[in-house]
Amino acid sequence: MTRRRLLHRTIGAIAAQGSAVRSPRSLSDLDPPPPNEGIWLVAGGVMGIAVSAGYDHALMKYCNECGAAVARRWIDQDERERYVCLSCGAVHYENPRVIVSCIVCVGDKILMCRRAHEPARGQWAPPAGFLECGETLQQGAARETYEETGVTIDPDRLDLSGVINIPGIDQILVTFRIDLETPPVLRPGGECLEVTFLSEHEVPERDFAWRRLLGPAPARFFNELRSRDFSINLITVGPSAGVGFSERYYKIQRRP
Ligand code: ZN
Repeated sequence: MTRRRLLHRTIGAIAAQGSAVRSPRSLSDLDPPPPNEGIWLVAGGVMGIAVSAGYDHALMKYCNECGAAVARRWIDQDERERYVCLSCGAVHYENPRVIVSCIVCVGDKILMCRRAHEPARGQWAPPAGFLECGETLQQGAARETYEETGVTIDPDRLDLSGVINIPGIDQILVTFRIDLETPPVLRPGGECLEVTFLSEHEVPERDFAWRRLLGPAPARFFNELRSRDFSINLITVGPSAGVGFSERYYKIQRRP
């Protein structure tokens, strides 16, 4: 499975859990907790994410040093299990993947993609994908936006919108935002059935991936879009399914 297919499997699992697939431990079943002494705790952010039920860790079968089989073994000094080669003894370290996404705004609308692949085929989400080696976060977000929508954006013009920790699926999602003055020509990529700009009232009318997770976050984002009073969100999705969200907001000071 390629990295891209793996991402779509993950996002698909997330999306499916957010809509049709019900689990008693699903994050999407949780109501947003109330604000708490300056640290706002709400469900979701610009992009709501749930831990995919059943996710354990990336699967590795063979040693990339010698090609022999590997197995999970406890490493005392690291105090965790890692893949260890049963032949050469190489210890294989795993680190979270970085996903980048871009919220492209024209007026009061945002650019959304309808997924072309199962699972969650037909559901909508902003353009997103894995960061590639050699890219900055902004370059990756711009590339994914172009690949999925045909929209060319300048990475240097992207504003940071959110950082989302998703330790339960070993991923970190970094979201950016950009305003375009006029609607660009749209060309859906191979992973999208359709791309279009949606307004606040149009987003809930579509089959919106992660709908059940977002709570008040979409309304807040669209309010910020209207007021131009933006914040950067630091979000943590619980380390396992069934654990709630936490979120901090950092207001961006507008230039005088
Ligand atoms: Zn080996």
